[in-house]
Amino acid sequence: MRNPDRIISDKFDVAVVGAGIVGASIALWVQQERKKVLLLDGQAPGSATSYGNACTVATYACVPINSPSIFRRLPKLIVSTSSPLRIDWWYALSHLPWHLAFLRNCTNARVNAISHNLATLLQLTHAGLDPLVKLSGAGHCFSAEQGIYYVFSSADGYRAARKETEARRRYGSAITELSEAEFKQREPGVTMPIYRVLLFEGTKFLRNPKKLVEHYVDQLIRDGGTFRQQQVLAVSPDAGGVNVELENKTVIRCDKLVIAAGAWSGEISGSGAENLPLDTERGYHIQFSDLGHLLRSPVAWVEGGFYATPMELGLRLAGTVELAGLQNKPNQGRVDYLIRSAHKMFGAIGMPDDTWLGFRPTFPDALPVIGPSPRSANILFAFGHQHVGITLGGATGKLIADLVSNRQPEIDLSPFGAERFNRH
Ligand SMILES: Cc1cc2nc3c(=O)[nH]c(=O)nc-3n(C[C@H](O)[C@H](O)[C@H](O)COP(=O)(O)OP(=O)(O)OC[C@H]3O[C@@H](n4cnc5c(N)ncnc54)[C@H](O)[C@@H]3O)c2cc1C
Repeated sequence: MRNPDRIISDKFDVAVVGAGIVGASIALWVQQERKKVLLLDGQAPGSATSYGNACTVATYACVPINSPSIFRRLPKLIVSTSSPLRIDWWYALSHLPWHLAFLRNCTNARVNAISHNLATLLQLTHAGLDPLVKLSGAGHCFSAEQGIYYVFSSADGYRAARKETEARRRYGSAITELSEAEFKQREPGVTMPIYRVLLFEGTKFLRNPKKLVEHYVDQLIRDGGTFRQQQVLAVSPDAGGVNVELENKTVIRCDKLVIAAGAWSGEISGSGAENLPLDTERGYHIQFSDLGHLLRSPVAWVEGGFYATPMELGLRLAGTVELAGLQNKPNQGRVDYLIRSAHKMFGAIGMPDDTWLGFRPTFPDALPVIGPSPRSANILFAFGHQHVGITLGGATGKLIADLVSNRQPEIDLSPFGAERFNRH
């Protein structure tokens, strides 16, 4: 911290940095422990990655994008503009350690271990989410429809996913296979030819994820908590707590600080997060405001690498992965890819009226960090939720509330510890 003698303007039990789905969920869970809570964000709540995603509560998403098949696909990835995964090779070369660590996590053994750990977290999804939805009266942010589809446009794509489908079943997902005719009876808006469909039974999705975060923050404030729209510049822990320096030059004091700033968590100096291998998987969306009626439920085109989701805001196609960091400009080629895919999937539906680039916070082993900072037991980390932050925000909040109150969390958190990066 640049000036440790600066006057401390306020004192809180717990301060949470980041009002995305993860930070807002944490703040609300921790407040149930009768703590005086401060939630901080440089922007309005829910306006970063938690705004533009595909809106699914993906309890089946235990399989990471790390995959042994990446080694076979690498040559094509170098040249292709029509792949759902794009790597910026200049960025990859200048951030080689993350990319090599990502590849080390693409072996069969590592993918199995990651899936196991993700499944353990995903099993807490509803225990973490449902109480917050009830408390904040946000039930209407979810669609009344249930069920999410994976459609395969080719026999090869279906066969390639067989092992992943088995893993999802093994970890408890109820999956029904549908023929093209059965699917199109339910979702006639999808006009492209389809080889096979998986239906994840009983799954839920949001009509507007930003609204869910706003409900959480409103509830936090109604129950006596505080939200301040302030960027955190630096933090400095000591034996009794943490000083937090804000952009308006004030300093906040708290007993415990939680860093939940998504893909930007490593930019807050002094927390210890700056030493972790956090990067971003960039993802895009395009949106057609008048076409929400084309679907009843989200449909992921697996070979295309994105979901089409019917929302309050219209029809959103969201997904793909681009490894190109936080600073590079949006890539129009990625948006064009999604537009071409929309036309293949739904026919001539015209041009989108909104496009968006978002930043999934991702570690090379696809697991979030949930637990204390190696720098201080008074700083807790909760970031790196890659493709499943909407799903796991509530579960993460519940686990962090246990840690704040010195209770034993209901799962072993060692696979999610920051120290795991020292072991490799
Ligand atoms: C295209 C796409 C589709 C997706 N689809 C799904 C899906 O269907 N289901 C699912 O579960 N997940 C999905 N995800 C992933 C999910 O959106 C993310 O994992 C999740 O939003 C991350 O939440 P977060 O709260 O960690 O981060 P964010 O929502 O990015 O929030 C971080 C917050 O921290 C704030 N911040 C940053 N630095 C500071 C600072 N120094 N001081 C103060 N505030 C700061 C930011 O302003 C931001 O508001 C998708 C992601 C993408 C990109």
